[in-house]
Amino acid sequence: MAEAQVIDGNAVAARLRERVAAKVEQLTSAHGRRPGLATILVGDDPASEVYVRMKRNDSAEVGIESFHHEPGGDVSEQDLGELIGRLNADDRVDGILLQLPLPTHLDQAALVPLIEPGKDVDGLTPMNAGLLAQDQIGAMVPCTPAGVMELLDAADVELDGSRAVVIGRSILVGKPLVQLLLAANATVTHCHSHTRDLGAICREADVVVAAAGRPGLVTADMVSEGAVVIDVGTNRTDAGLVGDVDFEGVRAKARAITPVPGGVGPMTRAMLLVNTVAAAQANMAGGG
Ligand code: NAD
Repeated sequence: MAEAQVIDGNAVAARLRERVAAKVEQLTSAHGRRPGLATILVGDDPASEVYVRMKRNDSAEVGIESFHHEPGGDVSEQDLGELIGRLNADDRVDGILLQLPLPTHLDQAALVPLIEPGKDVDGLTPMNAGLLAQDQIGAMVPCTPAGVMELLDAADVELDGSRAVVIGRSILVGKPLVQLLLAANATVTHCHSHTRDLGAICREADVVVAAAGRPGLVTADMVSEGAVVIDVGTNRTDAGLVGDVDFEGVRAKARAITPVPGGVGPMTRAMLLVNTVAAAQANMAGGG
């Protein structure tokens, strides 16, 4: 069998950004203001600082206005909650991104639900998770699983009736991805750290998505000839940034595979812009 197609996340993300930029122009001329994204960075985690900077640069590139807040690493839960409340009430702000993880003195599970669901561009509030689980149109879908679905679409993967395996059950990636694959009529097996015989389960699958954060977890002997393998894993190792999939081994067997870096990562960033513009469109239609 020929070597797998390497799905180019940078190219798919670039096409999405072009579409977003056109939509931003359209909304701006129709409503007299740019879509706005508020970012909140708490503490001095270097990775979070880089992620927020990239998100603000991405926003600027497509014409989204950004409102950045750094309330300080020792901010109280009450003050942070009040900041979220002010951003919820601010008509210039269409999306609110609370960069996670938060410092340990702050309760993420108490703060995230304070974000107005219509402005929850990360799709992490219980309301949006519930809407997604109930197949309701209008749910704000978390960026990484939404990006995985775009990549599968770009690679012309037929999901209807397919067998899909998702490895990882976080609320950020694994769980919402299972909902999206079910909605696309795949038959989904959801695996996690307590799953026995992961290899045997994966070998039955047409589509394998690895989101465990374990380098080398998925090896060639675990995938069937012609499977599609999406690698969400982002692991910093001595050898550099690697995914959860043994790329070279699996590439020789799969039909299509995503690289790390350059696969899911750029899609996560692009989907934040997509969500922000969708939030702006709804907000502007409502008079905001
Ligand atoms: P998480 O730590 O919250 O969840 C990891 C999940 O993997 C858990 O549900 C756990 O049960 C499962 N798991 C761990 N070891 C396993 C094993 N040996 N076998 C089967 N399942 C196992 O992580 P997360 O936030 O969901 O992120 C997962 C990975 O995806 C991480 O590497 C993260 O950096 C990466 N990530 C990448 C992007 C991106 O844009 N590319 C976005 C989000 C997360």
